[in-house]
Amino acid sequence: MSDRIAIVTGGAQGIGLGISRELVARGYRLVVWDRDVDALKALRVKLDIDRESFIGQVVDVTKKAEVESAVQEIIQKWKAPDVLVNNAGITRDKRLVNMEEEDWDAVLDVNLKSQFLCCKAVVPGMIEAGEGRIINISSRAWLGGFGQANYSAAKGGVVSLTRTLAIELARKGITVNAVAPGIVETPLMQSYTDEQRQHLEKTVPVGRMGKPEDIARAVAFFADKENSYITGQLLYVCGGRSLSSQSV
Ligand code: NAD
Repeated sequence: MSDRIAIVTGGAQGIGLGISRELVARGYRLVVWDRDVDALKALRVKLDIDRESFIGQVVDVTKKAEVESAVQEIIQKWKAPDVLVNNAGITRDKRLVNMEEEDWDAVLDVNLKSQFLCCKAVVPGMIEAGEGRIINISSRAWLGGFGQANYSAAKGGVVSLTRTLAIELARKGITVNAVAPGIVETPLMQSYTDEQRQHLEKTVPVGRMGKPEDIARAVAFFADKENSYITGQLLYVCGGRSLSSQSV
């Protein structure tokens, strides 16, 4: 059984599922936090991972008490986690004039506040161990996107949070980095029409949408214990779309 324990938030589907798969393939013991009970139940079989190497926990990552008690459960069963991947996220795209306060709060809570809560819960164990890896999922949309005032602000906040925690935790052996995906084929994209998808695809320099595994490989790079000299960085995994001025 591997000594390295990784938590993936929102790891039951989409990009999170891709990250979970990649980390399992690299021998990590895996913890998935997700609020989708059914997706969590189906996950162990989907990942083809044995019971001893997997913990699936129903956690709403916007709730401090749920996050904290989930960490305690992991420590009691195994030990403090070595890797945290803050991946859970939602969108509620609307123009400012139509965006309600609850659209703002929901998106900021799941995409940004959750990362603060999850970091706060796992960092004491990492400090005690003298080592840790935190990878925060941002988005290319932090550069700005039509109808995404809430989402862009949250994902920009993720970049600032990452840089700040990297500075605070550097002397503790903990690296904190961010990955900014472009357009990735996941259930999050199902709200787009075929026409919108074709339009989006044309805005990607490499000419295709991303796949969860494209993002997962970048996350695994930052999670590697050997990569202790890279911190506070934002890596775009977006087929070159960060180079273009076209927005969603
Ligand atoms: P998705 O909707 O397919 O999956 C998100 C997962 O997070 C789901 O399993 C969901 O149940 C879980 N989740 C949502 N809210 C939660 C909460 N409060 N507590 C616990 N779990 C929660 O989304 P995705 O496309 O895989 O996106 C994953 C991450 O990548 C998000 O942070 C998203 O913003 C980011 N991202 C996605 C794209 C894209 O094109 N799909 C692009 C850039 C960034």
